[in-house]
Amino acid sequence: MPLIAGYHRPTDLTEALDLLSTPGRIALAGGTVINADREPSDLEVVDLQSLNLDDITVENGVAQVGAMVRLDNLAHTFSGDLIGEASQRELPSTLRTLATVGGTVGAAMRDSLLLTAMLASACNVHYADGESAPLTSAIPSANRLITRVDFVAHGEWSIHSTARTPKDTPIVAAVGRRIGDRLHLAISGVADTPVFLSDTTDLTSLEPRGDFRGSAEYRLDVAQTLVRRIEKELA
Ligand SMILES: Cc1cc2nc3c(=O)[nH]c(=O)nc-3n(C[C@H](O)[C@H](O)[C@H](O)COP(=O)(O)OP(=O)(O)OC[C@H]3O[C@@H](n4cnc5c(N)ncnc54)[C@H](O)[C@@H]3O)c2cc1C
Repeated sequence: MPLIAGYHRPTDLTEALDLLSTPGRIALAGGTVINADREPSDLEVVDLQSLNLDDITVENGVAQVGAMVRLDNLAHTFSGDLIGEASQRELPSTLRTLATVGGTVGAAMRDSLLLTAMLASACNVHYADGESAPLTSAIPSANRLITRVDFVAHGEWSIHSTARTPKDTPIVAAVGRRIGDRLHLAISGVADTPVFLSDTTDLTSLEPRGDFRGSAEYRLDVAQTLVRRIEKELA
């Protein structure tokens, strides 16, 4: 755990927003990113656990999920669907019971399979100020308090990925979901955050950061192959 300078636990959104308006304070959800080390810091955390942001409702195939819902809960609730599968694969079970939906959007990790799956599921992000925006325009999150997300949770889907072992975090993963007559595609591992592939996205124009798991050229080449496989499978 980092050596945080202060801890606050608001009980309503107004109090939470008021606390977060002071510079140097950040939202604390599951804490798997925030509490990942023991470096000294000046950070004060605003714990979201008493804000009642843990509801899940599904109506006409569209899910509304509170920001504090844990990935383990998502994996069970949406078992058999793309979102359940991506939640299950995102983290080992001990971390899944801590990590939250809001934290996944807030952390916006480039390898996040769940974030990639949400991008392919027409996800909208709702904020404490009452506004909402498509996830495609909300990454990286502009330090606004997320209260819930909604996304399509039905329809044909597919994940194709490459990793060092089948259980390892994918180096590159392509995700597709058919919504109506349209195929929604998103991909991880080829930019600083997962990318939604619109009709006009040119995969070859992306500039991934290479690392020990795969060079930039390798990532781009694999990405094109994985996307072709999904297009063929869900044609
Ligand atoms: C060992 C380990 C392995 C990991 N492996 C992976 C992996 O394979 N793939 C992956 O994607 N991630 C991985 N992570 C990162 C992390 O587990 C996920 O990103 C997780 O979903 C973060 O959720 P959290 O609730 O724990 O977030 P927290 O740590 O609480 O917060 C993360 C960030 O999001 C912000 N935030 C949290 N909630 C909100 C909200 N409601 N509104 C606005 N901002 C908010 C916080 O202020 C912080 O900046 C790993 C972490 C660890 C420790």
